[in-house]
Amino acid sequence: MIKLTNLSKSFGRQQVLKSIDLTVNTGEVVVILGPSGSGKTTLLRCMNYLEQPSGGEIAIGSFSLRCRRASKKEIHELRQRSAMVFQQYNLFRHKTALENVMEGLIVVQKWPKAKAREKSAALLEKVGLAGKLDAYPSQLSGGQQQRVGIARALALEPEVILFDEPTSALDPELVGEVLEVIRRIAKEGITMIVVTHEMGFARDVANRVVFMDGGVIVEEGTPAELFQNPREERTRQFLKRIA
Ligand code: ATP
Repeated sequence: MIKLTNLSKSFGRQQVLKSIDLTVNTGEVVVILGPSGSGKTTLLRCMNYLEQPSGGEIAIGSFSLRCRRASKKEIHELRQRSAMVFQQYNLFRHKTALENVMEGLIVVQKWPKAKAREKSAALLEKVGLAGKLDAYPSQLSGGQQQRVGIARALALEPEVILFDEPTSALDPELVGEVLEVIRRIAKEGITMIVVTHEMGFARDVANRVVFMDGGVIVEEGTPAELFQNPREERTRQFLKRIA
C-alpha cells in the first residue's frame, strides 16, 4: 500500500502539486493520466524522492515519512520500498543487461555476486531477454532496454513500482512488447503506478485511473467509470482531445 497525504511540490513560485491525496492498495494497478505539464512525472518523482516534496506525507506499507523533516535514513528506507522505471530507461551504458540488473542487488542489498547473477538472469528471462544477458544497452533496441529497466526494478522486490511514461520514448512498433511485459507482471499482483498516454493499456490493465490537471487530482475511478462516464468537464475535454 502506498498513501500520499497532502503531498505538495513547488518549483520556485510555481506550485506544481497541490495537496495531493492518493492511496494505492497492495496489488492495485493505478494509471495516472493528464495533459502535459499537469504534474504527473513530478508526482512520481516525489514518491521516491527523486524530487524533494515541499510538504505532506508519504507512507509505503508500515513505513511513513513527513516530507519536510525527512532524514537521509528515512529517504533511503523509502527508496528501498519503491522502484522506478524511467522514460529514457536510465541504464548504465558501460554495463551489460545482466550487470545492470545485478547492480542494485549488489550495491544496495549487498547480495553476493553469484546469487545476484542467478536472480538477474532469471528476471531477464522473464522479460524475454534470455539471449541478451551480455549485451550492452547500445546493442539493444529501445524496447529491449526498457525491459532491462523493468527487470532491474523487479530485482529489488519493491512494494511498489513507479512507471514514468515507460513507452513514450519508443518507436511505435516497440510499444506493444513493453506493455505486454508490464501487463504480465501486473497480473502477478505487484502494486504499480503508471503514468502513460496509452489509453488501451489503461483500459485493460488499470484497476483505477486517476486524472490530473493543474497539479490536482480532478477525478478518479475505474477505467469504465472514467472513460465512459467522466464526472468532470476537464476530464471530458481531455478525453475528447486524445480520442
Ligand atoms: P508531461 O506529460 O509533459 O511529461 P507532466 O504532467 O508529467 O507532463 P511534469 O513534468 O510533472 O508534468 O511538470 C509539471 C510542471 O512542473 C511543468 O510546468 C514543468 O515545467 C514544471 N517542472 C517540472 N520539473 C521542474 C524542474 N525541475 N524545475 C522547474 N520546473 C519544473
